[in-house]
Amino acid sequence: MKILQDYGLESLKNLIAQMGEKPFRAGQIMRSLHQGRAISEMTDLSKDFREKLLENFVDNPAKIIKKLVSVDGTEKYLIALYDGNIVEGVFMKNNYGNTQCLSTQVGCRMGCKFCASGIGGLVRNLSAGEMLACVAVVNKINGGTLDKRAVTNVVLMGSGEPLDNYDNVVSFLRMLSDKNGLNVSPRNVSLSTCGLVPEMYKLASEGLPVNLTVSLHNPFDEERKKLMPIARAYTVGEILKACDNYFEKTGRRYIFEYSLVKGVNDTEDCLKELARLLSHKPCHVNVIRLNEVKENGLKATDDKNAYKFQANLVKLGVSATVRRLNGADIEGACGQLRRSHLNKGE
Ligand code: SAH
Repeated sequence: MKILQDYGLESLKNLIAQMGEKPFRAGQIMRSLHQGRAISEMTDLSKDFREKLLENFVDNPAKIIKKLVSVDGTEKYLIALYDGNIVEGVFMKNNYGNTQCLSTQVGCRMGCKFCASGIGGLVRNLSAGEMLACVAVVNKINGGTLDKRAVTNVVLMGSGEPLDNYDNVVSFLRMLSDKNGLNVSPRNVSLSTCGLVPEMYKLASEGLPVNLTVSLHNPFDEERKKLMPIARAYTVGEILKACDNYFEKTGRRYIFEYSLVKGVNDTEDCLKELARLLSHKPCHVNVIRLNEVKENGLKATDDKNAYKFQANLVKLGVSATVRRLNGADIEGACGQLRRSHLNKGE
């Protein structure tokens, strides 16, 4: 079975011509897909045509099968893909709009020690159309339309490493920003990577000025390797060069994520080295309080010390804030909800 959401307007036009339908149907179907409608719900098409489509295409490639609402208003969803695989999606309300946190892969092969998404390894990539369907369905469930979107911002910070699924992610970002569809500008998208340097260079030349966010988590290569296997392939120095190139090409300031692990990367040495590396860079540091994942035994730095770490970074000339805790009561951390779902054998 194929996924209709993987077809852009031009390929939809070809498909529709092959099926003997009028050309205007292509735009109509595209809008329906961006509105999160399943093929069987496209009642503006003839029943015959819908049935023909359903012979080849998945009716609804992103079905919300579970919704959890946090006391802070954050919503978390389990989304079933056509083959029974499951990804997570999070919807957070902000004063500037609403942000959806999107998964780009089922599982992840990066193996970062603190992260729940990588525990079972990579299962598979999401296609561009599947990612689009995930945004469309979350926009829809929150009452959004194409004219008045509920999802105004997207962060690629769910499970998966976006730059390890490069081509699909880039196609998805182009579809997402289509003026006739969901029309989410790349400027309202943040792409978070553990630091795949060659792909960071490639992304800088796509003409897609997304906010580049890099998971740093340790300024020392040898210590970073212990937390993030990818650090064996690329050094912090190489990452910083790729970030500077991104800034030169796109004019966009870049962001570092720094999840504080007690006694591991919240030390005075780490603080000073971070400041030495970053104080003259066009960047911002997002200090994150670790979401403890029982499988790995790592402990979070307490709130007081997290704020102290951030304040010290600022004193040393680095723009830094502590990331808000969203949905901590509903397993808001990467991959946690899917893991507990898998563990329960649901
Ligand atoms: N693969 C991408 C997206 C990951 S999720 C990346 O590595 O950037 C977004 C952020 O959450 C990353 O910075 C990731 O390192 C961090 N993260 C993952 N698990 C976490 C946890 N348990 N607690 C705090 N941050 C976590």
